[in-house]
Amino acid sequence: MINRDTDFLEALQIDGMGDNISYLELIKRLPVAVYTLDEKARITFFNPAAVTLWGRTPVLGEEFWCGSYRMYNLEGKWVPHDECPAAIAMKESRFLKAEAMVQRPDGEMRQILAYPQPMKSADGTVKGLINAVVDITERKALERQKDEFMAVVSHELKSPLTSVKGYAQILKKKLAVTGDDSMLAMAEKMESQINRLTYLIDTFLDSAKTGSGQLEHTNKEFDLGVLISEVVENVQMTTDTHQLKQIKVVSVNLIADKERTSQVLINFLTNAIKYSPDASQVLINTYTEEGKVVCCVEDFGLGIQKSQVGRVFEKFYRVSNEKSFNFSGVGLGLYISAEIIKQMGGEIWVESELDKGSKFYFSLPCVMANDTGNTN
Ligand code: ADP
Repeated sequence: MINRDTDFLEALQIDGMGDNISYLELIKRLPVAVYTLDEKARITFFNPAAVTLWGRTPVLGEEFWCGSYRMYNLEGKWVPHDECPAAIAMKESRFLKAEAMVQRPDGEMRQILAYPQPMKSADGTVKGLINAVVDITERKALERQKDEFMAVVSHELKSPLTSVKGYAQILKKKLAVTGDDSMLAMAEKMESQINRLTYLIDTFLDSAKTGSGQLEHTNKEFDLGVLISEVVENVQMTTDTHQLKQIKVVSVNLIADKERTSQVLINFLTNAIKYSPDASQVLINTYTEEGKVVCCVEDFGLGIQKSQVGRVFEKFYRVSNEKSFNFSGVGLGLYISAEIIKQMGGEIWVESELDKGSKFYFSLPCVMANDTGNTN
């Protein structure tokens, strides 16, 4: 016979949390679902928030892994209980953070964010698991509404901006003919500000589409080496302060979206320039390994402190320290880049050291590689 409260307190002691009864009271009052499993994965404790989330009360000691009626992944595929996040965390003996859908017996679906944590004894054996599960259904609905709003606003702003850009270009041509240099310089500045605005609106639109899983991409075969050289050449034209240096040119064919890949590279390069104001070089390296191609953009600028480096791919995340206040930006470029690379089956990551510089990487699966080993 399972005694819910004492077993739970015993489980907590394994984790070194002590035996104070107030822990139990605290967990019972939490608005977050919390439950525990024993070493055989039987449910041994759950708090009232878990019952609310599941819409049912599981039988202690007789049900396994999770008290929900049914579980699905975010793509709507049924997930058996012995493959749920708690099961993976316990079987693989590691902490997890995972989103999923929980179905209540009345059919209602709730979106959850689960934090299953195996509990281990001193010798490292898994003695059970504690899972904290947050119901994020309402938060996700609000995010979707916000994304839809952003998509509509960005879309509506684009049409008038396109015609303003057209007029600015006509004006520029006319002023070039009449030879009025100071007016021409103003028209050029106007056009470059319109381009900036267009870029910002496109970024908001992409971000809104990413949030609702609608970021479109068209895969075709192309040579990444050629694309990198083209993009580097174009971005080089936008800066007088930095030299963009390709360490190695690799000829490698990918099946991916060419435009989106160059968007990621442009983001890496423009960030490298922007966040290294006192440096004069940005290095671009490309190499192949195990069926994939890796591209790295290295700068010698501000760098990012350890505590923030893992967060730069989050939506709207901007590093906060006294130096970064001087740089304009919205914190969407890397978020969109990460989504693009993930959608194309690749990976994206960063290595950085404060005050030394950063290396931003992406990798994509490749079709075949001819490592020419050219250096520039
Ligand atoms: P934005 O540059 O518009 O703020 P990004 O999504 O491109 O947005 O970057 C997110 C944040 O990551 C930036 O605000 C900056 O703090 C940090 N970051 C990005 N690239 C670099 C870099 N090369 N060096 C240092 N910090 C960087």
